[in-house]
Amino acid sequence: MLDADFFRRWMAAAAASVDREAQRLTDLDSPIGDADHGSNLQRGFAAVRTALEEEAPDTPGAVLTLAGRQLISTVGGASGPLYGTLLRRTGKALGDAAEVSEAQLAEALRAGVDGVKALGGAEAGDKTMVDALAPAADALADGFVAARAAAEQGAEATTAMRARKGRASYLGERSVGHQDPGATSSALLIAALAEAADAVEG
Ligand code: ADP
Ligand code: MG
Repeated sequence: MLDADFFRRWMAAAAASVDREAQRLTDLDSPIGDADHGSNLQRGFAAVRTALEEEAPDTPGAVLTLAGRQLISTVGGASGPLYGTLLRRTGKALGDAAEVSEAQLAEALRAGVDGVKALGGAEAGDKTMVDALAPAADALADGFVAARAAAEQGAEATTAMRARKGRASYLGERSVGHQDPGATSSALLIAALAEAADAVEG
């Protein structure tokens, strides 16, 4: 079972990963965006880290809803409300249980991804974070390692896609040949989940 500590570790691992990879995320956002994705997420996850320390939420659902609120209020770009919705919806679906199963998390994450699709209007194949998140949520039924691999593959597959949502869509055909920054950060988020799970399983 996964408790609030597990979810705190997930968010801490995500914040650390975003710090390490900020430059790469911003570089990916240069040719098909406005070169701010790394700094956007760094600011957001720094706020998540501070809020989790100050408020010490004690259920999985409360950890994720607090993190989602921080991303919405501190990230200026499109990705803030989208990631914020992902985490808030996922957290809300987990309810107020003190511990949740992997299967419950998989189901909740699927609800979170549905929230991202509803807010941003993106479907699979539109070259967005959905292309990494949706396969990861599906693969989570087979475990954290499978989810991480699915997210990484999903992110890599965006290179060949033409963007239909977000800033990159303004480039039309010229968006092809570049990996989507949001799909890349989504793969980092799911890798951080696998990292949090590693710490449990040893
Ligand atoms: P902005 O585009 O406002 O500068 P960011 O650079 O932080 O915001 O984030 C860009 C990423 O957000 C994209 O790479 C893409 O994955 C994601 N994104 C943008 N619009 C949408 C959307 N409508 N639905 C899903 N994801 C989106
Ligand atoms: Mg940007």
